[in-house]
Amino acid sequence: MLQYKVAIIGAGPAGYFAAQALQNLANAERSFSIDMIERLPTPWGLVRSGVAPDHPKIKTVSKVFEKIAAEPNFRLFGNIELGSGISLEDLKSRYDAIVIATGSSLGKTLGIPGENLPGSISAADFVPWYNGHPDYVEIDVPLDTDTAIVIGAGNVAMDVARMLALDPTELDVTDTADHAIEAFKKSQVRHVYMSARRGAEHAAFTSPELRELPKLEHTNVIMHQADIAEAIARAGDEPKKDVKSNFDAMQLIAQTSLGEHDRTMEFLFQHTPKEILGTNRVEGVLYSTPKGDVTIKCGLVITAIGYQAVAIDGVPYENGKVINKDGRVADNLYVVGWAKRGPSGVIGTNKSDAAAVVELLLSDLTTPKSAGDITELLTHQIVVTQEDWQRINEAEVLAGEPKGKPRVKEVVKENLLKLGGVI
Ligand code: NAP
Repeated sequence: MLQYKVAIIGAGPAGYFAAQALQNLANAERSFSIDMIERLPTPWGLVRSGVAPDHPKIKTVSKVFEKIAAEPNFRLFGNIELGSGISLEDLKSRYDAIVIATGSSLGKTLGIPGENLPGSISAADFVPWYNGHPDYVEIDVPLDTDTAIVIGAGNVAMDVARMLALDPTELDVTDTADHAIEAFKKSQVRHVYMSARRGAEHAAFTSPELRELPKLEHTNVIMHQADIAEAIARAGDEPKKDVKSNFDAMQLIAQTSLGEHDRTMEFLFQHTPKEILGTNRVEGVLYSTPKGDVTIKCGLVITAIGYQAVAIDGVPYENGKVINKDGRVADNLYVVGWAKRGPSGVIGTNKSDAAAVVELLLSDLTTPKSAGDITELLTHQIVVTQEDWQRINEAEVLAGEPKGKPRVKEVVKENLLKLGGVI
């Protein structure tokens, strides 16, 4: 029996699916012990800190993650950051393969004047803020303005715009972080624009997300009929299936009659941001449009225009991704998920993606390495094991029960470690 050791860096969807693919490849001749190393005391990556809290169904994939983690050959090393006493080189010499699954957590920037004004923030900060990621709890989200603009037309922009525009009482039964629910309840934002630089035929958001919007109970959603008609004309006779499906969903929004709501979400197309205006804080956005320049006043701008990966020492990067060939990086180093292919696809996309990379990894394996693993590198670090994480998980779920929530997230690292019983 050949016994291989694989370290997976990052406990998000791509990391878990890589672990699952390895587990599926174990047989009478070979086995894999999997050590998953995660910077935070909590695993699940974007399923915990990215997926919108009003989309609980998407989060049920965490059950799959926990099943993978329950296998005897799996160990979680939470609260361990590469670089803090443990280097990639240390791991490379001890494991047969290392799989990088650290995603992309930096927001892309527009590169226009005014982008750094107070009141201009990235979805890469705003989303983890409302999802209770410990590193983002303290960011300043000024909601003391009647108008917010979300720049970008992908599903992240859609999540962000919806979270700003819905009535915050709708979040009471979700796992939105308590501090964010409190802030949304005090929010003065009543009009949320979502601006796309191209026409509706090029929108990156998808029809299931569009179809949710007319169901918002306290928010009018405005999609201008002329924008849709022009986009349909530009798209020609045979638009792609996804585009056609988006058009149908857009028509549905445009035809929905407006209610007596004081909250509005409005779509703007063909609005290319030229400058974020303001002196001491954001006061508006100057756009170039086919009809000339247009200024829209607002006190908050959130850019949701894509992500790039944060570099890890010793890993080559280019264009916001790890340089790789089909997931191979160098020596015994591999990459999966957004760090490999960029921020695209849904959570399930990572399953086939990781499985393909693990097949390559398998084809590269020779004689198993015998010496050592991460445990001999741990000196001062406080580790959150799978058992410790289960204690955190159970405590959060228990705290949510009386409130009708799936969980109440603990957002302070130290308190998470206390819940885990490790300090
Ligand atoms: P995305 O789908 O790539 O969308 C990025 C948007 O930003 C596009 O509309 C793009 O417009 C725009 N953009 C890029 N650069 C810009 C610039 N300089 N100025 C103005 N606009 C600019 O990325 P995402 O929304 O971050 O989503 C990432 C992935 O996660 C996607 O695959 C998405 O479907 C997925 N996701 C899924 C869900 C879900 O399933 N519910 C939820 C969230 C995210 P152009 O097309 O003009 O470049």
